[in-house]
Amino acid sequence: MHYIPREQSTFAFSKDNTPVLRIKSGEQVKFQTNDCFSNQIQSESDLVTSIDFSKVNPATGPVYVEGAMPGDVLKVEIGQITVREWGVISTLPEMGVLWHRAETRTKIVPVENSSVAHFNERIHFPVDPMIGVIGCAPAGDAVPCGLPGDHGGNIDNHVITKGSIVYLPVNVEGALFGLGDVHASMGDGEIGGTGIEIAGEVETTITVLKGKSIPRPFVETSDSWYTVASHEETQNAIQIACEDMQDLLVEKWDLTPTDAYLLMSVAGDVQMCQCCKPSPVDVVSRFRMPKLENLPRLLD
Ligand code: CA
Ligand code: ZN
Repeated sequence: MHYIPREQSTFAFSKDNTPVLRIKSGEQVKFQTNDCFSNQIQSESDLVTSIDFSKVNPATGPVYVEGAMPGDVLKVEIGQITVREWGVISTLPEMGVLWHRAETRTKIVPVENSSVAHFNERIHFPVDPMIGVIGCAPAGDAVPCGLPGDHGGNIDNHVITKGSIVYLPVNVEGALFGLGDVHASMGDGEIGGTGIEIAGEVETTITVLKGKSIPRPFVETSDSWYTVASHEETQNAIQIACEDMQDLLVEKWDLTPTDAYLLMSVAGDVQMCQCCKPSPVDVVSRFRMPKLENLPRLLD
């Protein structure tokens, strides 16, 4: 398995980034990742207000995948995710759903064996570490890793865990894939603006799919399919995620647009990846369609 250390990282998805690794389609890569603050927060006395925000959300990479061309799909199977023994939660001034009711504070959370978070002496809960930032370089201008978009980026989708498959549009030759911003845990919507931010290691298998195109990131888990869309306005993010799913159901499950809509209304779910408004970061929504018996796969 190829290995990329956390020092080989970038703060933007860009077609101009120099690849740190070149692989063939189907190869495995382990990414070592920094936490989203680039380790600038080491204790509860380090506040977000005192860190350098030009150094947040590093993505390890980029990886050049041979044969990947614009219009293809990059299939990224997520293997084992292991994380450091402690993570950081923070409130952020003027960001998040309840910031007006919060002080600006850093909380260090012990994480046991990548599987249990100890919020305090009384409260602990099981965790399934997830990837916050994952994407390919966009065709146009560079996009900072703190932002989500059609290329992926900071989509903060907590279903991207061990065993998930992430499908991304390839926009430039070689794809220039990267990932980072692992969270030991993050709730749907990430209402406060952070998960349990944590350094870690992520195992992946990266494959180019030819003859398929998708407009935006798409995720598969053992029991569900997810479209993922981001927009400044919540309702627009939801609508784009729904339209993408409707298009897939029309094409793959042989439904009329109206029948797909009816089925989605009764059997699918609108879910939020990220809605920590007020925030300069777009809202990210996803639409979940369960895998249904006797119906074909929606991708590959
Ligand atoms: Ca994030
Ligand atoms: Zn994060």
